[in-house]
Amino acid sequence: MSRFLDASKKILKPYQPGEQLNDKKYVKLNTNESPFPASPLAVEAAALAAENLRLYPDPEAKELNRALAEYYGVAPENVITVNGSDDVLDFAFLAFCGRETGAVFADVTYGFYPVFASLYNIEYEEIPLLQDLTVDVQGFIDAKGTVFIANPNAPTGILLPLDKIREILRSKPDNIVVVDEAYIDFGGESAVPLIREFDNLLVTGTFSKSRSLAGARLGFGIASEEIIKDLNTIRYSTNPYNVNRMTAAAGIMSLKDKDYMLGNAAAIVENREYTARRLRELGFFVTDSKANFIFAKSPDVGGEELYLKLKDRGILIRHFARPERIAEFNRITVGTREQMDALIANIEEILEEAHEKS
Ligand code: PMP
Repeated sequence: MSRFLDASKKILKPYQPGEQLNDKKYVKLNTNESPFPASPLAVEAAALAAENLRLYPDPEAKELNRALAEYYGVAPENVITVNGSDDVLDFAFLAFCGRETGAVFADVTYGFYPVFASLYNIEYEEIPLLQDLTVDVQGFIDAKGTVFIANPNAPTGILLPLDKIREILRSKPDNIVVVDEAYIDFGGESAVPLIREFDNLLVTGTFSKSRSLAGARLGFGIASEEIIKDLNTIRYSTNPYNVNRMTAAAGIMSLKDKDYMLGNAAAIVENREYTARRLRELGFFVTDSKANFIFAKSPDVGGEELYLKLKDRGILIRHFARPERIAEFNRITVGTREQMDALIANIEEILEEAHEKS
């Protein structure tokens, strides 16, 4: 820390991304990336766009926004495209929270929400998940402030049905409800059509997961024209060129190559169900995930211990030490069938070792 850092920033606890280690070749199941490459058409489009790198991208991202709007059946005025969905979440905290309006989110959810709130000095209320790790809908209904709900939730993977989202939207006519749908393509129903019914809904999404474009950084928000205008006010006050030329071109092509995304998402869903079944057979408790990851704990080996032992064996998964009630769990990204078989084989060996010791 330099002596120049403003006092208000000295206490910041920044978001901790998952490990990106290079010391050896890992089976990487820790950051919810896709195991499949991006659409070859998208890669080709990005390469072609690189020929014009000397020029700024279109700050209005007209072509990309039109393609995205068409995909979701909304108007281009209902969408904003950004540098990864973290960008639009950042804008939402800046635009819709402040001195008078706090933020509300679950105690176990995407770890960036409290980071944004702290960065902007926004008061926030954490609504504890219920005993079964589902969202406490009544808790959200009773709370005051701008709501942030990851759906499916992370790291539990549990999906909140749309009628529950509706109840929360209805209970907060004077507050924005942000539904973060980073993982919606793996078995959830999107809340996007509800923007016609609710002027307080902002849905956020990403190309990082089902579209295999995490490295390109492309995310979006869908909402009423007025909400999108507010988000653009923030965008034009920070970085109007937040989506670069190559990313925009890749995004447009990825949307056109819809079947490629659907095929990959279906393969992930199949591998998820397969892995969950195998882990349950090994005695694990596994949540009913509708995301591209599994959240599981073993009665025989601790969460941190399993994470460390798998890391030793070249398999990276994600362990969260806090809050304490999820410390025995691990979050495992769903990869290819081969990766999942390697994971299971290694877990079987680790469990055998544990049994021998006891
Ligand atoms: N929301 C949730 C719930 C996430 O898990 C992530 C990925 N870490 C994001 C948003 C942000 O993803 P990206 O910025 O890559 O779109």
